[in-house]
This record gives sequence, structure tokens and C-alpha cells, in this order.
Amino acid sequence: MNLINHIFPRQCINCWTTGAYLCITCKKQLKPHPDICPYCHRFSKDYLTCIECKTQKDNYLEGIIIPFAYTDVLKKLIIKLKYFHKKDISNFLVDRLIIGLQTNESFQKEFHHSELIISFIPSHRYRHYFIKGYNQSELLANKLSKKLQIPMIAIAKKKKFTKTQASLDRNNRLHNLKNAFSMTQNLQLQGNETILIVDDITTTGSTINELAKLIKHYYPNIKIRWAVIWRHIG
Ligand SMILES: [Zn+2]
Ligand SMILES: [Zn+2]
Repeated sequence: MNLINHIFPRQCINCWTTGAYLCITCKKQLKPHPDICPYCHRFSKDYLTCIECKTQKDNYLEGIIIPFAYTDVLKKLIIKLKYFHKKDISNFLVDRLIIGLQTNESFQKEFHHSELIISFIPSHRYRHYFIKGYNQSELLANKLSKKLQIPMIAIAKKKKFTKTQASLDRNNRLHNLKNAFSMTQNLQLQGNETILIVDDITTTGSTINELAKLIKHYYPNIKIRWAVIWRHIG
């Protein structure tokens, strides 16, 4: 496969025309994801947690941000990124995420009032090095941090090897998550920052909520936003 990549120029992942991994025509097929509440998935401006969900005691996220809706083209793009680590693709996805952040009014307001920190979904060391090869969330977070010149921290570590969430039913899923993360020690935080947790596509709502719960336990005034590259609508 590597040899093939060396010999052939870049081709559009969707229509195979040469020149770029995603040609201009196919780029137009990418659709923005509508603004939703991260918990109930109903419309919510600027992707904020809606008032109803915010009053539930086990909901810890301030909001979410999703630059892309699920489309065939995007799916192909993500697969290419996941298995072939293409730099141009991660750059493109992060650039779109930046546009999403810049056009999100409530996020911009928050950004003016508190310091922003970028973080990522921790992945278990074993998985990190031997199965997935690299932590995609960390890679995207790192890229975002560099482009925006905003510091990135590893907020937490994954404590134990949790079974792949998708293979479990809901009850087992929640059980599987209990104490899945531990806070990184000696973090230099004021306690009133906004943390943007960058995610690839694999994290479930219960996983991010568990991580947010842990952060809130130590820093109740920190605001947590979940930045997901794409998500199924509904
Ligand atoms: Zn194309
Ligand atoms: Zn809601």
C-alpha cells in the first residue's frame, strides 16, 4: 500500500479524480451538522446543553460542537484518516472545526470571559501503542492547539482497559465506564477555565460525560465543551 501511495498522486477519496484527497465538487457534499443539545439531541443554538438537560444532575457538559453531519463523503474521509494518517485530511478537519468555533457565538463569549484550554479523550496506553497505533483525538487536539496557539493539556488518563463500548448493552456500558479515568496529577489550573475536549468519532456520550464528571469533581467551575468531528444526526 505504501508503495502504491508513493507511485500514484493524491486522488479524491470519493470520485477518484487526481489532485487532492477531496476535490472541490465532493467537498461541497459535506454538510454542517445542525446545532443540537449533546444530551437530548434536540435543536439547541450554538450546541449548548439545553436548559432542560442542564438541570439534570448527571449532565456535566456545557455543550458540544460538531462541524460535520454524517455523509458518505465524510465517512470515507475519516476512514482514510484513521488508517492512513493523512496530514492534509486532519488539517482540513481541524480547519473546519476552527470555523465552527469562530462562528459559535456563545463559545466566543465564553472564550472572552475565561481562559480556554484544549484537551482530548485519553486512550489506554496499551491501545495507544499497540492497537490503534496512535490516539486520534490527541492528534487532532494537538493540531488545533498549534493552529489556535492555545495550550493543550492531558486532563486525564484512562485507568483500565475498558471493553469496547459498542460491544456492550447500555447497563454494561455504564458499568464498564465506572472509574475509567483518573485525573492527571499536578495540573496547573485556576479552576475557572473552559476546556474543549477534542474527539475523533468513537467516543460515546456516556464516556465523555464520565470524563466531564471527573473533571467537575475536582474543578466544579470549569466549563467543559465536547468537540466532535462528526456525529450521526439523531
Ligand atoms: Zn471528488
Ligand atoms: Zn437537551
